[in-house]
Amino acid sequence: MTTITKEIKSDRKKVPVKGMMDNVLEQFNSAANHIDLHPNIRKILNITNNEIIVNFPVKMDNGEVKIFTGYRVQHNNALGPYKGGLRYHPTVDIDAARALAMWMTWKTSLAGLPYGGGKGGIQLDPSKYSQGELERITRRFTFALADNIGPEHDIPAPDVNTNSQTMAWIADTYMSTRPPAERTANQHVVTGKPTGSGGLEGRDRATGYGVFLNIKFWAEKNNESLEGKRFIVQGFGNVGYWASYFMEMEGARLVAVQDAFGSIRNPNGINVEDLFNYSILNNGSISGFPEAFELDNEKFYSTECDICIPAALGNQITKENASSIKAKLIAEGANGPTNVEGEKILLEKGVMIIPDILCNSGGVVGSYFEWLQNRNGELWQLDEVMQKLDKKMRESFIKVFDYSEKEGLDLRTAAYCLAIKRIEKAYIQRGIFP
Ligand code: GLU
Repeated sequence: MTTITKEIKSDRKKVPVKGMMDNVLEQFNSAANHIDLHPNIRKILNITNNEIIVNFPVKMDNGEVKIFTGYRVQHNNALGPYKGGLRYHPTVDIDAARALAMWMTWKTSLAGLPYGGGKGGIQLDPSKYSQGELERITRRFTFALADNIGPEHDIPAPDVNTNSQTMAWIADTYMSTRPPAERTANQHVVTGKPTGSGGLEGRDRATGYGVFLNIKFWAEKNNESLEGKRFIVQGFGNVGYWASYFMEMEGARLVAVQDAFGSIRNPNGINVEDLFNYSILNNGSISGFPEAFELDNEKFYSTECDICIPAALGNQITKENASSIKAKLIAEGANGPTNVEGEKILLEKGVMIIPDILCNSGGVVGSYFEWLQNRNGELWQLDEVMQKLDKKMRESFIKVFDYSEKEGLDLRTAAYCLAIKRIEKAYIQRGIFP
């Protein structure tokens, strides 16, 4: 597998940006072999349906015009409209968008949603742009994509470095491109909007809450409690923060955190709210947090702990660090954080991995609730959302866990098998046009 490295703004200079396609295809093909997937359907799912690349100009604050490249890959829509996030990050390219779109197809299928999979974004480091520039970049990207997205066709959502504000700009721009009488009926072109603009109460915490629930279900299956369990988190954005928040509420102890700028450790526990105030509200990074020690980035994954939550980028757990991991559970908050070689080492060591397409599916399930809310002209309450999320996540976890036991499979292969079977069924029932 080739791994190309690329500079990003951080003191952890080399971040792998290639190889996610190899991973997703290997994961897919090994599950497809297990279920003896029909060869014609394997051909269809091995490739993406549509790949949209747009180059568009944006005026910067200093008057200069810059050209940006945006991507939207639509992998498969056998089960419904394409669904998946838009990420703003230097590692975004066509290969990353393809792999991430495929992961969305498996994720939405496994969750039993009426959606397919898509993903996209812009290759940029958002910290280099002003809020005004980011707004113009987002609006111009939306305008360029407008014929290729839509509430019943392809529905973007937040992902790495995009948030409810980004979604509000997209919704507003998209609606402005529609005929007047159709404008407001199109607000569900994106999910993850602010609650004042059609967003869902609780969508902000849905992914992190789902990660936490999966960990809790795993503990229940093992007759264990999360009280006193030590966990480490890579990435302290929306997913990492909310997963930590719920873990701490359950009595677990956050002992190390890593973000793009550094790593910190405190074996006595890091207070999640204090770290949120320091990092997210004030400094933009966990680096320098006064209530913890600085930790070498290379040592982060070998920190003594019970549970590890990678909640940043792909390809973080590899053959280079897998054997040094102390956790007995990896809960994948990120998409594709463990590559195939890393996973092999972990499984041989007896480490359990709750795979991304199950573990972080709370986000897209929350998105589905938001989409329904908008479509039906409803406003859901937070407790109702959390209850529904709980129920859906539990059903998925049990389905995957039981299938893995029955078939003697690791959780990832089991999750893939179930996801692929649902798509296979749709193709068999409908046939291939013409
Ligand atoms: N970006 C999130 C994911 O990777 C959410 C996608 C969505 O809600 O459509 O699952």
